Amino acid sequence: MSKSAAVIGAGFGGLALAIRLQSAGIQTVLLEKRERPGGRAYVYEQDGFTFDAGPTVITAPNAIEELFELSSRAMGEYIELLKVEPFYRLVWPDGVTLEYNADADAVATAIARINPADADGYRRFLKFSEAVFREGYLKLGTVPFQSFWSMMRVAPQLIRLRSDRSVYSVVSDYMQDPHLRQAFSFQSLLIGGNPFQVSSIYALIHALEREWGVRFPRGGTGALVRALVRLFQDLGGEVRLGCPVEEIRLRNGRAAEVATADGRSVVVDAVASNADVVHTYASLLAGTDRGQVMARRLTGKRFSNSLFVVYFGLKRQYPEIAHHTVLFGPRYRELLTDIFDRGILPDDFSLYLHNPSRTDPSLAPPGQAGFYVLAPVPNLKKAAVDWSVVGPKYRDKILDALEKHTLPGLRANLVTSRIFTPADFATELNAHLGSAFSLEPLLTQSAFFRVHNRDDRIHNLYFVGAGTHPGAGIPGVIGSAKATAGLMLADLGAG
Ligand SMILES: Cc1cc2nc3c(=O)[nH]c(=O)nc-3n(C[C@H](O)[C@H](O)[C@H](O)COP(=O)(O)OP(=O)(O)OC[C@H]3O[C@@H](n4cnc5c(N)ncnc54)[C@H](O)[C@@H]3O)c2cc1C
Repeated sequence: MSKSAAVIGAGFGGLALAIRLQSAGIQTVLLEKRERPGGRAYVYEQDGFTFDAGPTVITAPNAIEELFELSSRAMGEYIELLKVEPFYRLVWPDGVTLEYNADADAVATAIARINPADADGYRRFLKFSEAVFREGYLKLGTVPFQSFWSMMRVAPQLIRLRSDRSVYSVVSDYMQDPHLRQAFSFQSLLIGGNPFQVSSIYALIHALEREWGVRFPRGGTGALVRALVRLFQDLGGEVRLGCPVEEIRLRNGRAAEVATADGRSVVVDAVASNADVVHTYASLLAGTDRGQVMARRLTGKRFSNSLFVVYFGLKRQYPEIAHHTVLFGPRYRELLTDIFDRGILPDDFSLYLHNPSRTDPSLAPPGQAGFYVLAPVPNLKKAAVDWSVVGPKYRDKILDALEKHTLPGLRANLVTSRIFTPADFATELNAHLGSAFSLEPLLTQSAFFRVHNRDDRIHNLYFVGAGTHPGAGIPGVIGSAKATAGLMLADLGAG
């Protein structure tokens, strides 16, 4: 008889794992709490606008394509990934701007306009970034670290690549200009890491972006989520939406049954959780010793920052605004210290602005444009903010700043808006402390020191997604699905 599995949560990690299992002949059911799949990549449709809630910078399209190739299907029949150029436009308050893409000569020329000496530094940084990409992403991004020794085996390479230093400090070896130091270190913020604290391993992100380019799915990130759901269903997998899991029941120390809020349950051979790691241990395994021990252990760890997001629709387009814009604030190190360490909700902000209509106008009514803007903010442990009171005021402050510096006439053209706060991360996504990216990607919380892809005691309980190895971001969680599927298929005798 064929083996069966339940995957809890339909984020990118859960979807990728479910596809891998179903492709290998494991009868898989995907159980998702919310009414739509995607997790952080949820979609809001409001007043004719389609707002992608979360990830918008799609890198590593090859990792996505691999999910289709497992069953010899053509990705192109499910989704089209459009190229985005430039990758980003970076803007500073003093008027300095930088656009970058995969053309190293063009980027070096743009850098030379800011600081001539740094053009050569950039080329040397590129070599470093590519070396870390090969070691950190290609070799280690999809293999599980179940034992301490599995990590020690790769330690020499990581030491050689100076993984003990922060990404900002390594970038500063190559470039002197403060704008450029920010330009090539901010990327770790996309996965919840403070560039002054995360390992220089995250310098690989620049090489990763260059390797396969930055993409955007036609129809938005939500269309990519729908494509993965369709692939899973075409393979014979079952999806249950609006179906929160309440308990993982153990029998003889093994995960035997998953109970959902509608009073039903599924009996399976293996269970994988894509839900928040603390939620999984503290709530879904609340009645078990293992759940309690792990929940206690995890709550002592550092969780990443949260995000404050404003989605807004405007009755005109702004074609001069790039698809991806980063608006740096007047402070960098100090701002990040406020958010990550001091727990201060800053009055100034660094913002990411998403203008998908630049690439795909179908996401808004004709002639109009739907944007989102996000600001990194402290998680709920760092700053106990009452977001129901502060949220609307913070939105107004951010929209005022955007109107003044970036989108003139914003208020007069505003058709619709909505916000997503750290409190929403906690209630909607069951995210511990409202963290946007789960465990902070510190070296001491990475690889073997992150939640293991397979639990050490409950041998048929697995994890996939941002809280397990390798970590957050779409390439990360899709990589985690490959690592976890490898373990599951071997354990289920289907590898
Ligand atoms: C605003 C924002 C922008 C981002 N931008 C980018 C970007 O541009 N590029 C990039 O690569 N990454 C980006 N990221 C990071 C990336 O989106 C995430 O790291 C990734 O999507 C997380 O995927 P995941 O597999 O961990 O699952 P999640 O998306 O966290 O999904 C987990 C799922 O589990 C469900 N769940 C929870 N509890 C239960 C339960 N009890 N029962 C059933 N289901 C449950 C949740 O509802 C959710 O659907 C961004 C993140 C955010 C928040």
